[in-house]
Amino acid sequence: MNQVDYLRISLIDRCNFRCLYCMPEGAELDYILKQQLLTDQELLTLIQDVFIPVGFTRFRLTGGEPLLRPGVVELVKKIANLPQTQDLAMTTNGFLLAPIAKNLYDAGLRRINISLDSLESDTFEQIIGNHGRGRWQQVWQGIQAAYNVGFDPLKLNVVVIPGVNDHEVLDLAALTIDKQWHIRFIEFMPIGNGQLFSDRGWISSADLRHSIRARWGLTESQVCGNGPADVFQIPGAKGTLGFISQMSECFCDRCNRLRLNADGWLRPCLLNETGQINLKTALRAGISTLQLQEQVQQLLNFKSEINFKQRDSGTVGAYTRTMSQIGG
Ligand code: SAM
Ligand code: SF4
Repeated sequence: MNQVDYLRISLIDRCNFRCLYCMPEGAELDYILKQQLLTDQELLTLIQDVFIPVGFTRFRLTGGEPLLRPGVVELVKKIANLPQTQDLAMTTNGFLLAPIAKNLYDAGLRRINISLDSLESDTFEQIIGNHGRGRWQQVWQGIQAAYNVGFDPLKLNVVVIPGVNDHEVLDLAALTIDKQWHIRFIEFMPIGNGQLFSDRGWISSADLRHSIRARWGLTESQVCGNGPADVFQIPGAKGTLGFISQMSECFCDRCNRLRLNADGWLRPCLLNETGQINLKTALRAGISTLQLQEQVQQLLNFKSEINFKQRDSGTVGAYTRTMSQIGG
């Protein structure tokens, strides 16, 4: 079992997009009420007095859409300024990014992942739920702003859905040739929209690599990050191509993370919520941070006994939250 020192923190479960693969079609989601969200102060107390003493030093802010969280720049600054924070990153859909990219950078954020599943505005709007024209352009401006400000590495996350955006794999991969952008292809998982998954299926990283290799060739590479991506490069390209293959390969033995949801639930695993604990409820009930450290340690011990494959065979727990509620 790997050392677990990386915490993904969902700042808010709400989102301004409704991506096909992330949320169930049509269904209304129950959003967390404001008073049930961890406050900034509770979040900082948990990071500083619970997670850091247990050994966590690397944090990623996610959502829902993290940029919808009021005061997000101030919060970034406070987390970045903690002396033990070794790495602070964010995953965003980029829609609200352009005007605050510099503020986030100045606040101490250095690494950013932006979801971009298509280079075609029509396909993009289909994926994000047809929320109106001009959305793709606005996200593209966010990406450009992040690049110009100096985020490094700048990663673009892509979930490939058969029959929706799989015809764009080579175009997306080609973005890495001239720019130091890093594309990460994430295998589609049956969480969020199980119906779409049953209807369309998924494409393996190996198949994506096969198409890209046939076009340009591929060499193994590296890029700074905390994730389980296998990284390659088109020969001579400035950026890299990462492949996250949680469906085709079990990498639970390399898993280095826990997930803190916006309402305080701490999960041992993306697809397994057995043993999860609610740190917000415990904090508000006056449980000491020392006792909370012990609870987190117990969850870590439990985590070492479960894995993704057990979820498939139904031997351990179940999951009830969508991807947008967990934060990916
Ligand atoms: N809203 C932000 C965004 O889209 O980047 C952050 C939250 S989102 C849940 C985090 C990541 O999860 C995104 O890169 C998204 O593509 C990925 N994701 C969501 N649903 C997925 C699914 N069913 N399979 C694979 N990845 C998924
Ligand atoms: Fe899309 Fe991210 Fe929102 Fe999910 S949370 S709907 S992936 S933008």
